[in-house]
Amino acid sequence: MIPFLDLKQINKVFSEELLAACKRVIDSGWYIGGAELLSFETAFADYCGVKHCVGVANGLDALVLTIRAWKELGKLTDGDEVIVPSNTYIASILAISENGLTPVLVEPNPSTYNLCPENTRQAITPRTKAILPVHLYGHLADMPAFMQIAEEYNLLVLEDSAQAHGASLHGKKAGSWGHASGFSFYPGKNLGALGDAGAITTNDDALADTLRALRNYGSQEKYKNLYKGVNSRLDEIQAAMLSVKLKYLDAQTAHRQLIASLYLSEIKNPEISLPGVDVSNQVWHLFVIRTKHRAALQHHLQEHGVQTLIHYPIAPHKQDAYKEFAHLQLPVSEQLHAEVLSLPIGPELSSEEARHIVSVCNSFSVKH
Ligand SMILES: *Cc1c(COP(=O)(O)O)cnc(C)c1O
Repeated sequence: MIPFLDLKQINKVFSEELLAACKRVIDSGWYIGGAELLSFETAFADYCGVKHCVGVANGLDALVLTIRAWKELGKLTDGDEVIVPSNTYIASILAISENGLTPVLVEPNPSTYNLCPENTRQAITPRTKAILPVHLYGHLADMPAFMQIAEEYNLLVLEDSAQAHGASLHGKKAGSWGHASGFSFYPGKNLGALGDAGAITTNDDALADTLRALRNYGSQEKYKNLYKGVNSRLDEIQAAMLSVKLKYLDAQTAHRQLIASLYLSEIKNPEISLPGVDVSNQVWHLFVIRTKHRAALQHHLQEHGVQTLIHYPIAPHKQDAYKEFAHLQLPVSEQLHAEVLSLPIGPELSSEEARHIVSVCNSFSVKH
């Protein structure tokens, strides 16, 4: 069986370096908020081409705390509307509702799967205060268009870069386009820790200061609390693991791109739609195809030794957690959620395995 993603194999490649980094932290006797965090934050800020990186406990916290910081700074307030794609992972939407703001679900472009700038313009009301574009599946959203819209309407832009470490357009990386960006380093992400971790990137000094306080009980100076903050830390061991893996991220991305170009050029089956992307700004966190016959195709792949997953099976507005959105008509999103299927793609997938996946896709047919 070709696994969807072989995390054990992915981390095994670096096991000596990871173990050495782990030992360094254990021997240091300093486990929270030390040199490893600072060193990773500096390296990741440089990598993204921004002034600040603020490490936090996970990707959801990165988004939640950024919106919270904007509230503390007086830039957002309860009830403000935030435009977010209707087909994203639930975390992007939770970050908005968690802060008492109103998510406005906007339809994506059905071919790129990313938030559509034209639909975004149409959704703007006097209450709209921010846009939260998601670089879904590793494909950079149309950031020049969103920054233009933001300037016209004086909106904040928070990128959800959880799936797009290193994706870039005109040499400008995910995490450096918006006023701030949230990253996840969940183990299965393109840059994955060996546990939970996340970060915010920004060029805004005041925002970075506020985030550093919020993640630490709202305190900048020990025992003095500026805000009712939270405990959201990126610990020393995870920071050390991430510093090791960051060095190899670009090579791993290049491998994902190689597999993707093979899929794009070799999968030829009228029942399968390939993602319509500009391959140059795509880091292929996921390779997502569409088909009207998803259950049958998934079964066919399984029968031929290929594990696939669905990202995501239920549209956010159809979730029980968001009954207030149940009445919304979002046909593009609903169709995508019914048709998408993710093929294996990862730094340890061999070209031989990829070719097998291609041939299994090409041998699929629908029995009438
Ligand atoms: C993974 C993910 C998150 C949340 O990250 P966690 O580290 O799991 O909290 C947010 N947004 C998107 C698009 C994601 O894929």
